[in-house]
Amino acid sequence: MLEIHEIPVTPFQQNCTLLVCSETGAAAVCDCGDADPVLHKIEQLGVKVEQIIATHGHLDHVGGTHELKLALEVPFWFPSGDLWLLEGISEQARMYGLPPLTPAIPDGDLPIGVDVKIGNCSLEVRHCPGHTPGHIVFYDAAAQQAVVGDVLFQGSIGRTDFERGSLPELTKSIQQQLYTLPGQTVVHCGHGPTTTIAHEAATNPFVRSV
Ligand SMILES: [Zn+2]
Repeated sequence: MLEIHEIPVTPFQQNCTLLVCSETGAAAVCDCGDADPVLHKIEQLGVKVEQIIATHGHLDHVGGTHELKLALEVPFWFPSGDLWLLEGISEQARMYGLPPLTPAIPDGDLPIGVDVKIGNCSLEVRHCPGHTPGHIVFYDAAAQQAVVGDVLFQGSIGRTDFERGSLPELTKSIQQQLYTLPGQTVVHCGHGPTTTIAHEAATNPFVRSV
């Protein structure tokens, strides 16, 4: 069974997630916007992180990844459609008046249709463009839970006013890739509380179920 621990990081209160296979103790970090609180949690739980992954290239999701990768010496897998954002991370920091950041160098892509293995658990990779063009989400079919980054929030959806964002694309991603999951699926969002697919499909005011 995959345990998901949320760790809010950065001034944007982004939910970094620590994904742990409860049978083997193998773990992965997803969306590391800041390394220190994540390293603290890893030590507290005593888990063995084997890889770092990310949903997309915004700085609150990847800003601490270079530092985390150096500290843990593990590979970093990243969706290639958002490489332009990752490589421009210092420009993102400048826009928010934050100090410059070093982009983490990915060890490879997270291709759609190739599952991410964490110990005995596996995560399906689904492409959900609209907030950013390369945005992916991770779905754990065995435990019916998902890590969705900035695609869907409790009662809200990701912003589409950033460069290369698209509301029609985001709407389509949510309707086709998320609302089609089992209703009881627990959704871990990039910001704010967790929710479920059934709750959002029935009540989300921004994207209706079709
Ligand atoms: Zn974002």
